[in-house]
Amino acid sequence: MTQNAVGVEFTQRLAENPKSAEERAAILANPGFGDYFTDHTAVVDWTVDAEGKGGWHNARIEPYGPIAMDPAAAVLHYGQEIFEGLKAYRHADGSVWTFRPEANAHRFNRSAQRLALPELPPEVFVESLRQLVSVDKDWVPSGDGEALYLRPFMIATEAFLGVRPAREVSYRVIASPAGNYFGGELKPVSIWLSEHYARAGHGGTGEAKCGGNYAASLAAQLEAEANGCKQVLFLDPTNDNAVEELGGMNIFFVFTDGRLVTPALNGNILHGVTRDSVLQLAQDRGLTVEERKITIDEWRQSLADGSLAEVFACGTAAVITPIGELKTADGSLASPAIGSDSVAMAIREQLLGIQTGAIEDLHGWLTRL
Ligand code: PMP
Repeated sequence: MTQNAVGVEFTQRLAENPKSAEERAAILANPGFGDYFTDHTAVVDWTVDAEGKGGWHNARIEPYGPIAMDPAAAVLHYGQEIFEGLKAYRHADGSVWTFRPEANAHRFNRSAQRLALPELPPEVFVESLRQLVSVDKDWVPSGDGEALYLRPFMIATEAFLGVRPAREVSYRVIASPAGNYFGGELKPVSIWLSEHYARAGHGGTGEAKCGGNYAASLAAQLEAEANGCKQVLFLDPTNDNAVEELGGMNIFFVFTDGRLVTPALNGNILHGVTRDSVLQLAQDRGLTVEERKITIDEWRQSLADGSLAEVFACGTAAVITPIGELKTADGSLASPAIGSDSVAMAIREQLLGIQTGAIEDLHGWLTRL
């Protein structure tokens, strides 16, 4: 049994047949993204007692493997589920760190509120990451741009077909070694403008990180792929076609007068941790940052009049990725070329430097695992 500072006790049952050092080395030589998983998983259960009071218990590390679940489990029918995504980075001295985990814990609890799931104390969230990384630390890669992707999630496991919040819930964390998200060298990506599908509606679940949002984005993603694009841009068709976000990243615009603009958090888009960090680092650099409505017409117009300097996307998986082109059903908008002296590249290098320990962490964003 492992005792820790916050009084949450995780028991440990270690894998009897973990991957061998050779198998692990073969995977780490070419990890890809989301294809391989470490030997263990962290789990905490939540149940409601006879008095109707919910509580977290049975925190544990167990071998990675299939989850036994009742076929009537609420998550399988009504999608009562939320998740998070963050990374563990190996520094030059071998220590392992994660980036702003309390921000992910906070977002997880906002998602929990929206999906009528129980909130998880942030210290249990962070401790679950620490516990998992402590048993699977050999899985944290050390190559350039590589990290161990951590995927906390919460599912409604109660077997009950009525539509109400489940009284039995499971919180879990799995981990997956990750290379460069888009593979190979950093190239500007082409994105597809989704004109038939919206990702979110006002009052809906857009700003929650719940599986349903991603299921709803897949048809648009297929359309994007059929048009040679890796990501989809979603608009708000009820609000002058305001730009919202990509399927898995937030979006930024840099103007030639030094303004950095990103869509405001209007309830429809995810509160990206990278987005928030980019805004902070841009302010540190003296850029004027604007969180506001930006429409597809303003994008077209500013491109035409030469006032748009850069367009880029950001998120945990791919950090910062220049957008080279916006493809639409009736043509394409080419973005200005993003050079090495661009705002996007400067902030990308700075963020990566902080995450990997090469640049001083002036904002206190790193937590040692
Ligand atoms: N938007 C969406 C829809 C996402 O799935 C993600 C990835 N979590 C992001 C934005 C970026 O968020 P973050 O910077 O916290 O990874």
